[in-house]
Amino acid sequence: MPALPEAYQKLRARGRELALLGATGGLLGWDQETLLPPKSHGFRAEQSAQIAGIAHRLATAPEVGSWLSACEAAQPPADSPEAACLARWRHDYNRATKIPTDLVEENERASGLARSVWVEARKRSDFASFAPHLEKLLSLARRMADLWGHSGQPYDALLEGYEPGWKTKEVAALFEKLQPRLVTISEKAFTIPAHPSRKNLSGHYPRHDQEKFLQTLLPKIGFDTAAGRLDTSTHPFCSGLGPYDTRMTTRYDETDFMVSLYGVLHETGHGLYDQGLPEAELGTPLGQAASLGIHESQSRLWENRVGRSHSFWKAWWPDFARTFPDLTGHNWEHCWRAANAVERSFIRVEADEVTYDLHILLRFQLETLLISGDLKVRDLPAAWNELFQKLLGLKVPDDSKGCLQDIHWSLGGFGYFPTYTLGNLTGSQLWQAAHRDLPDFEAFLVCRDYRPLLAWLRQKIHAHGRRYLAGDLIQRATGKPLDPEAHLSILEQKVKDLSG
Ligand code: ZN
Repeated sequence: MPALPEAYQKLRARGRELALLGATGGLLGWDQETLLPPKSHGFRAEQSAQIAGIAHRLATAPEVGSWLSACEAAQPPADSPEAACLARWRHDYNRATKIPTDLVEENERASGLARSVWVEARKRSDFASFAPHLEKLLSLARRMADLWGHSGQPYDALLEGYEPGWKTKEVAALFEKLQPRLVTISEKAFTIPAHPSRKNLSGHYPRHDQEKFLQTLLPKIGFDTAAGRLDTSTHPFCSGLGPYDTRMTTRYDETDFMVSLYGVLHETGHGLYDQGLPEAELGTPLGQAASLGIHESQSRLWENRVGRSHSFWKAWWPDFARTFPDLTGHNWEHCWRAANAVERSFIRVEADEVTYDLHILLRFQLETLLISGDLKVRDLPAAWNELFQKLLGLKVPDDSKGCLQDIHWSLGGFGYFPTYTLGNLTGSQLWQAAHRDLPDFEAFLVCRDYRPLLAWLRQKIHAHGRRYLAGDLIQRATGKPLDPEAHLSILEQKVKDLSG
């Protein structure tokens, strides 16, 4: 391979600077959600903006463009890690530099304003007050999409920001395959006799006991607790700051221990991915996550495939029973049924695994129409309610339980929603491939030995960072392109098991 010019080392060094700044900004963000005194938010916003501004200037400086051009001219072999890094760096540089600063600032202002209006609008279920802000954010998103470039479908350019490599029509085709089967599965699940429900386990589960249980669980599933923490926040999240520093949060409900349990299993899936990224590549794309969808596949795999399985509840039942006296009279199967209950509900973030993707399919259909202009903002509530009735069979009572429930659109985050479903589908496909590749996989899970599964994920997904686009990574890990079949057959089997 011809030697890469010195500029390559400069790109690596700049990437490392940006990663360190990003981790510093991330730590400020983590602190803001967990510990920050109430009066400090204004000052924190200024600090965070300062860090973000420095990072943006460093990432978009003209010398970065020259370094990239010099390296590209050297033409490293197309399948080399260096070529992959250059392609990802070029992608990010072009996206960051194609939008003029005044448009970035206008978008920041508009979404800041929209977000505070949305908070109030959601409380009062007052779509009319939010509508002009949504209109404004959509027009800004279209302008940015045009600047980023697309071939006639502006949503493509927005999607590219969250799930590089995917096109709108590919996502639409995948979701069209998914929708009728998901509707059938969920309708079957709604009619299961002796309907499973979390309410069947209602009792008092002291927070202290929940924390004790989770601290046992975390290292057992492979999370390095000396290189990360679990804290509390209103909205659980995971922030992989860098090597040896992964911050996760959860929330506790003393009437329902599954809120923290599944919250933590989900965030730990993200955390394990962050802890598995190659440390030596901090600052290059090889040290970054492949995409949001791939990140979500890791969280869903641990939350739903591992944590909602028979083997999980059988294996952990003695610990649950010992930790929570209010589980007296129950058994592992009651818990497994409760954890897998399928229910019609309005709110996406509270939805079960079967209905969850219907909530996403609805959002994807509507936001592509909003971006293309085929759906007018004023018609959004009616369109939402009609589609909701069709997919979930419920009449939406008001917009706070309908089109005002999510924060994403108020931040201008059009194109984000599909990554959740891509993550669900990917998680199931990886699970199926791990089953195929690992002999005695189930026997390990029953013994609470998650090392073979984690090692498989490390090798197939984590170790590659962002070297491959998500679609290629899935193909390499599972031997086929992403397909809803694995996920659907798992859900169908689950509903069958619940009916038995
Ligand atoms: Zn997640």
